[in-house]
Amino acid sequence: MSLAELSAAELAALAEDLTARYAELKSAGLKLDLTRGKPSAEQLDLSNDLLTLPGTGQTTSASGTDVRNYGGLEGLPEIRQIFGELLGIPTEQLVAADNSSLSVMHDSLAFALLHGRPGGTPWAGQPHKILCPTPGYDRHFHLAQELGFELVPVDLGTDGPDLQTIKRLVAADEAIKGIWVVPTYANPNGAVYSEAVTRELVSMPTAAADFTILWDNAYAVHHLTDDEIAAVDVLGLAAEAGNPDRVFVYASTSKITFAGAGVSFFGGSQAIVGWYLGHLAKRTIGPDKVNHLRHALYLKDADGVRALMRNHRAIIAPKFEAVEKILAERLGAYGVATWTEPHGGYFISLDVVDGTATEVVRLAKEAGIALTPAGSAYPYGKDPADRNIRIAPTFPPLDQVEAAMDGVATCVLLAAVRKQLDGS
Ligand code: PLP
Repeated sequence: MSLAELSAAELAALAEDLTARYAELKSAGLKLDLTRGKPSAEQLDLSNDLLTLPGTGQTTSASGTDVRNYGGLEGLPEIRQIFGELLGIPTEQLVAADNSSLSVMHDSLAFALLHGRPGGTPWAGQPHKILCPTPGYDRHFHLAQELGFELVPVDLGTDGPDLQTIKRLVAADEAIKGIWVVPTYANPNGAVYSEAVTRELVSMPTAAADFTILWDNAYAVHHLTDDEIAAVDVLGLAAEAGNPDRVFVYASTSKITFAGAGVSFFGGSQAIVGWYLGHLAKRTIGPDKVNHLRHALYLKDADGVRALMRNHRAIIAPKFEAVEKILAERLGAYGVATWTEPHGGYFISLDVVDGTATEVVRLAKEAGIALTPAGSAYPYGKDPADRNIRIAPTFPPLDQVEAAMDGVATCVLLAAVRKQLDGS
């Protein structure tokens, strides 16, 4: 029976029961953490062969490059070819870089701010805003804020953002220079951008001639079901729409091999890649090609990556199932929460009763369960409805995920019941 249908007496009894349950939870002395979207140690162990590959003594790539030396700014062709196939991007339009795609995002935006995009003027000298589909990735928002962009929220559903609003905004405002997009299994709500949505984004009229889609395909191959959807050919679609330079593509192996020692990627039209490398050449003499080679040797080919991702799935899918099962069992009947059931990626997005997310996170913290701060998936950390909580189940072992989620469910219900009692 939903909370709203309970009589005053029933509500009071439930509140009493939950208060006792919460006191028990607090006294259990838990120390659990659902904040970080990190691979678990068990997942990292899958790629430990990377640690011994240097023992093979190989120092040259198939193309004859000595990977120990300077140079090769665009990265080793072997690794670019493997990820080009997975991302649907021709090798020559994909650059391989060092271990963090976030730093590639920083560099490419800094280049646009300081120098302007090809043929354009520097963004830094003019008002610059960026569209932020929400809920979204907090580090995207922090990076853009750090670089002086005004963050403009737009709603993100599970199959893409609010296109009508986006089209209206970008047509009217020249200061809107771009939009963050996590096209596959978005962080945190698991949204997947369809080809139709992508076509709209690459073809819509924009007041800014240098409007840029920041296409962060961080979870392109991170499937949780047998439906291993292929990456949308965003660069091909943009070219077809007559806007070949509209898209910057990002990706990395952070959640494929080692999160702190992987390979990142930057993709775009030939003009955009040439522009990016031209500025990058002043920043570095070349990337860590030793790491590119060991990744290419270890992964072998696109199928090697797909096989590795199935091993990841075997470890993490049960954790997602546990979260969904516990939420359904504990909260389903009360109508106090909705949550995503993603087909891939690293997160579950939990919406609780409006106005209670901050309180749920506080209650959980007091019971020893760390959750990402409420509002963190929104620009400036402000969720206007105070309803969204990002759950990251990959890092802790399964039994800890279960214990933490049972505790979270108690907190969600307790906060909802207290709000209802306050309002009645
Ligand atoms: N992009 C998204 C959407 C993410 O969720 C994350 C990490 O959680 C990153 C990028 C970080 O990527 P990298 O490790 O390559 O810097």
